[in-house]
Amino acid sequence: MSNVTRPDFATRATNLSIEGRAFINGDFVGALSERTFHTINPATGKVLAEVAECDVADVNRAVEAARRAFEDGRWRNLSPKDRKWALLRLADLVESNIEELALLESLDTGKPVDDALAVDLPDCIETLRWHAEAIDKLYDQVSPTAGDVVSLIVREPIGVVAAVIPWNFPLVILALKVAPALAAGNSIIVKPAEQTPLTAIRFAALAAEAGIPAGVFNVLPGYGETAGQALGRHMDVDCLTFTGSTEVGRYFLKYAAESNIKRITLELGGKSPVIVMEDVTDLQPVVEQIAKGILFSQGENCSAGSRLLVHEGVKDRLLAAVVEHFKTWRVGNPLVAGTKLGAVIEERHMERILGYIEAGVSEGGRIVLGGKRILQETGGFFIEPTVFDSVDNKMKIAREEIFGPVLSTITFRDTDDAVRIANDSDYGLAASLYTNDLHTAHKVSRAIRAGTVSVNCFSEGDQSVPFGGFKQSGFGGREKSFAAHDQYSQLKTIWIQLR
Ligand code: NAP
Ligand code: MG
Repeated sequence: MSNVTRPDFATRATNLSIEGRAFINGDFVGALSERTFHTINPATGKVLAEVAECDVADVNRAVEAARRAFEDGRWRNLSPKDRKWALLRLADLVESNIEELALLESLDTGKPVDDALAVDLPDCIETLRWHAEAIDKLYDQVSPTAGDVVSLIVREPIGVVAAVIPWNFPLVILALKVAPALAAGNSIIVKPAEQTPLTAIRFAALAAEAGIPAGVFNVLPGYGETAGQALGRHMDVDCLTFTGSTEVGRYFLKYAAESNIKRITLELGGKSPVIVMEDVTDLQPVVEQIAKGILFSQGENCSAGSRLLVHEGVKDRLLAAVVEHFKTWRVGNPLVAGTKLGAVIEERHMERILGYIEAGVSEGGRIVLGGKRILQETGGFFIEPTVFDSVDNKMKIAREEIFGPVLSTITFRDTDDAVRIANDSDYGLAASLYTNDLHTAHKVSRAIRAGTVSVNCFSEGDQSVPFGGFKQSGFGGREKSFAAHDQYSQLKTIWIQLR
């Protein structure tokens, strides 16, 4: 977007009208308890809106509506082509409201509005379009049989899907779940994170406008321990798709085991290594990718490249360039053009990040950039880009997910050492590798235990490739690509004996 046409987001923010009610069975409604909670703007610490606090009673109401919509076939019995057109209309509506949605996302999360506009919203729109376009091009199968039998293997929607999602990419993650689930013919109930319910609620209005029938798409704002748990334990939810922390992901396996053994898919945390080999000659592009990997979205990114593993022969030069470049990532008001890092999500999370920085120092890490809270006078929760040198992979800051703009530098001696350190983690979501050597690129990318390995860039790929974690970063399926449809459908065998 050119600077000439950039809207005045600060003025727009003061004129926004914000919907805070739940969306159930085609209507905006308050919680049955009439309780509400506040969502705040992390860049100011001020209340943004009052939001319906849904709990188990609202979950029951939403699941009933979703089940009814599924059983009577108002959505799943449409031809795939008709579902495609409804989802494409929805994508168009998101696109025509892109500035309002980007602003709402920025206000609720603290991320720079220009990032929401350039990354989050286009990603959400592309996801909707990709799965919409895919659904009328997927064929089922006929198995090889003798002449007196016809055997069909058909793919059917699973039924009522619930999605419990985090606060870091609210609309992106919503779309990753909603697009394939709706394309496949399911009903879905989304529980956004308590910190960021606003864009999911706004999205619901657009879904209705696009012609997604009542009961097929529902949004229940509320707390994880009440609304989230009630969805996880509900006997009539067929599939629960979760993105969030590994700690909460475990609960969902337990909820499923203790209720109806619903299908659970988990997209969890990460501690992704970024490996820089000695053969890399041009360091500047590498440094820019390292910055994107750990500073984009304030480091609140599941696949953030938070462990910089660098060969001892190139470490000093690389680190000096990293520090210089990180200084150009401006921290500040998310609504102002040129801001690269906004506020982290809430005060408690900021304290958590600062606690990790303290732990890093006390375990012997050396801060070479940042390390502090800044812009306190705004009332917002801002943290400087922070770089540690002299980190050992056994330290807390190398093992636990910080979810902030904090990079830990670890030095290695040779390729085997790099692979060993990279894999010495409970997580396995993503990894990046920088090398000029074709053999190293292939060998190391195969040796790393992670769901996505990007070479000579920081990337999760696009919609056409699966995304998900190895080890404690994930369970039960993959998002994006046709693999996402597997999460929200089940195979049925129909064996027909001919007379
Ligand atoms: P979180 O605390 O695990 O929360 C995620 C969701 O779970 C929220 O909607 C939350 O509700 C709900 N929840 C919390 N406690 C619950 C409980 N006891 N029962 C049922 N639901 C519960 O994660 P977060 O702090 O929002 O997000 C950060 C985490 O997400 C990081 O670990 C990050 O790596 C991960 N993440 C992973 C991916 C991926 O694709 N692998 C993508 C993005 C983020 P409340 O909002 O009320 O707490
Ligand atoms: Mg908020």
